[in-house]
Amino acid sequence: MIRSSSTAVLLACLSILASSPVSGSAPTRGPAILAWSVNGDTLAALRAEVDARVAAVEEKAVAWRRDIHQHPELGNREFRTAGLVADHLRSLGMEVRTEVAHTGVVGVLRGGLPGPVVAVRADMDALPVTEMVDLPFASRATGEYMGQEVGVMHACGHDLHTAIAMGTAEVLAGIRERLPGTVVFLFQPAEEGAPPGEEGGAALMIAEGALEDPRPEAIFGLHVWTAGHTGMLGYRPGGILASSQTLRMVVHGTQTHGAMPWNGVDPIVTASQIVLGLQTIVSRQVDLTTAPAVVTIGMIQGGIRHNIIPDSVVMVGTVRTLDPQMKVEVEERIRRVAQGIASSAGARVEVELTSGIPVTYNDPELTRRMVPTLERVAGREQVREVPPGTPAEDFAFFQQVIPGLYFNLGVVPDTIPLEAAAPAHSPWFFADEGAIPVGIRAMANLVLDFLGG
Ligand SMILES: [Zn+2]
Ligand SMILES: [Zn+2]
Repeated sequence: MIRSSSTAVLLACLSILASSPVSGSAPTRGPAILAWSVNGDTLAALRAEVDARVAAVEEKAVAWRRDIHQHPELGNREFRTAGLVADHLRSLGMEVRTEVAHTGVVGVLRGGLPGPVVAVRADMDALPVTEMVDLPFASRATGEYMGQEVGVMHACGHDLHTAIAMGTAEVLAGIRERLPGTVVFLFQPAEEGAPPGEEGGAALMIAEGALEDPRPEAIFGLHVWTAGHTGMLGYRPGGILASSQTLRMVVHGTQTHGAMPWNGVDPIVTASQIVLGLQTIVSRQVDLTTAPAVVTIGMIQGGIRHNIIPDSVVMVGTVRTLDPQMKVEVEERIRRVAQGIASSAGARVEVELTSGIPVTYNDPELTRRMVPTLERVAGREQVREVPPGTPAEDFAFFQQVIPGLYFNLGVVPDTIPLEAAAPAHSPWFFADEGAIPVGIRAMANLVLDFLGG
C-alpha cells in the first residue's frame, strides 16, 4: 500500500492522466496506477462523501421502511417488496437478477476501480403476527399461513434491513467510479423459514448461484436489536447466534394392559427416562466454558387410555449450539443417551435430527479487521461485544461458504428502558427509525473499508 505522503503525487498523476491527451508514456502507466489500492487520504475522502450521501438518502430510506412495514409479506411471498427492491437497484444502474430462491433479488454494483468483491445481505420476509403497535403506518395486512388466515407484520425488523440495504446501495452507487471493487447486494426471502413443504431462504439462494459470478470474498449482515438503544452496535467473533436443529424421536415398546406392565415394554416410562437423560448432556457432558447449548423436548405424544400401555411415544424438540464442533458432539450424545436408555428398557428408539440451520459464526479474523469500522461509525462507547444468543439465523448458510460478519443494530429509543422493550416476534415489537442512518453508515463503511483496506 502506498503511504499518504505519496497521495498528492498520485492524485496529480491520475488527474493528468484523466485530463491530458494520450501521450506516448501515459497508457503504459495507467493500469499500474488503477491497480493501486485505495490509500489513506482517498479512503478518508470517500468516507466523508459516504457520510454526506447517507444524510441525503436518510429520508428516502425511512419512507421505504414505512412503505414496506405497511405492506409486509410472508416468506416466499415477498413479491411487492422484491419489486420495490429490484426497481430501485435498476434505477441505480446495477445488474439485477430477480426470482432467485422464489422472490430473492441480487444486485451487482461494479466499482470503477479494480478490487475485491464483497456482499451485503438483507432479509425481506415478515411474520404471521397481528400488529398491536399504534403507528400511522401500522400493518393491517393479512395472509395465509398453514391454511389459516393470519395477521402479517414485520415483527422481526426485516423492513428496516431491506430499507438499510437499499440505502446502502444508493450511497455506494453514488461513489461507484471511485469504488475499488464490486458489491453484491443479496435481498433474500424466507429468512424465518419457508412455508411447510417449500424450500427457501439463504440455502436456496446459494443453490441458485447467488454467491457465484461474481463470487464475494466476504459478506456482511445486520439485525435490529432490542437489547441495545438506538445507534448501538453489537458484535461477537465466533458463534453469535445458535445452530437450530429439530429433534424427533420415536420410542417403540410393546403394547399391553396397564394393570400388567410386565407383559410388555412401556415406552412412556422409557421416554420419560430419555427426557431426563438428555438433560445431562448440556449439564454434565459438554464443556460449557467453550459455549452454551440447549436441548429442549417441546412435545410428547403417546397413549390413548388410562389402562393401556401404548406401543410407541413420539417426542419432538429443538437443539441449539453455538460452536460447530459442539454441534457434532451434542448430536452424537443425543443418539447415545437415547439408544442406551431405550436398550436398557428393552425398547427401541429412532432418533432423527435435521441438519437445520448452522451456527451464525462470525469469522474471527474478518471481525477483528472490521470492528474499528463499526467503532468509527457509531463511536467506540456505542459498540459492544455481545454475549451469544440462542435464536438461529439463516445468514449462517452464507457464512458456511464465505467468511461473514453479522452484527446487531440497536433500535430501542433512548426514552424506553431496555427491559421494557418488546422483543422481536412480539405483536408489540417496535423499532426506532433513528437507527436506519446508523445502519446505512455501518454497512456502507464496512464495504468501503473492506474494498479499500
Ligand atoms: Zn425473526
Ligand atoms: Zn429476523
